[in-house]
Amino acid sequence: MARFVQRDELEIMEVNEDHLMRANSVEGRQQAAQKHEGKLYRLVLVSFGLLCVTQAALNISLRLILYNSDAQKLELLKMERDQIKTSNNSLTEAKDQLQTSYNRLTKQRDQLQTSYNRLTKQRDQLQIRCNVLTEERDQLQTSNNILTEERDQLQTSNNILTEERDQLQTSYNILKESLCTQTQTYPHCWIEFNSNWYYVSNERKTWEESRQDCLRRGAHLVIINSKEEQKFLAGLNKRVWIGLTDREEEGTWTWVDGSPPTTAYWGQTQPDNGDNVRQSSVRTEDCAELYNDYSHPLNKWNDLPCDVKISWICEKVV
Ligand code: CA
Ligand code: CA
Repeated sequence: MARFVQRDELEIMEVNEDHLMRANSVEGRQQAAQKHEGKLYRLVLVSFGLLCVTQAALNISLRLILYNSDAQKLELLKMERDQIKTSNNSLTEAKDQLQTSYNRLTKQRDQLQTSYNRLTKQRDQLQIRCNVLTEERDQLQTSNNILTEERDQLQTSNNILTEERDQLQTSYNILKESLCTQTQTYPHCWIEFNSNWYYVSNERKTWEESRQDCLRRGAHLVIINSKEEQKFLAGLNKRVWIGLTDREEEGTWTWVDGSPPTTAYWGQTQPDNGDNVRQSSVRTEDCAELYNDYSHPLNKWNDLPCDVKISWICEKVV
């Protein structure tokens, strides 16, 4: 289009030159006027053409602008479409996950509902059992209270009876001792074994006091002559003096009738004349007892100081 304008300008300049060269003559002026009209006509045509070209260029530019705008819109639409498609895929995936989660939660809810129903039933059953047990407990508590009261009453009665029994036992022992001392009546005071009679005291005396008591009863401190007699006396299970002593000569044991023992039934390590002798004490052990703490019936003898007070056994031959 620039070339067209330049060429038109050159032509206009040529027209002006011709007009100037021929202006000096009339013909020249007429011919120049005709040429000038033709040039103007051509100039109008060229100008119109330029306008058309300009219009076309403007149209093309607008179309290009519109085209570019549509392309951008299309691109944007494509991008939006892709984004929507991506979002749609994400939403679909999320929907599937939610569906799976919903199914799992529904299943868990059903399981929990079943468990809840079962537990509710068990709770109700336990409640019923608890009520029954509570009632039984209350009944037992009532019975226990009654029994406790009865037990306390019985305990009181038992204590009273025990005290009365002890008093009666004491009275009985006193009466029995008095009777045995005064009358020597058999068998209330004496025990028979192998045609011999044995008196077991309830009192406690020294060995010599015991020996004198037996003499008053027409008897003597027991003399053990056989294994059977030893077992019989061991079966009484009582700590008592027997009629054996070495007080005349240390280490020489004799019965109260002066005879030596034919068979001895000493406990292990006995006779030891007492630990006090080894500790340079004057309190020797010269009288023999049946010691009930020694368990074996044939190992029951022990020597101990004669002034110790324990029970005793008298023996007499019928
Ligand atoms: Ca001795
Ligand atoms: Ca001893």
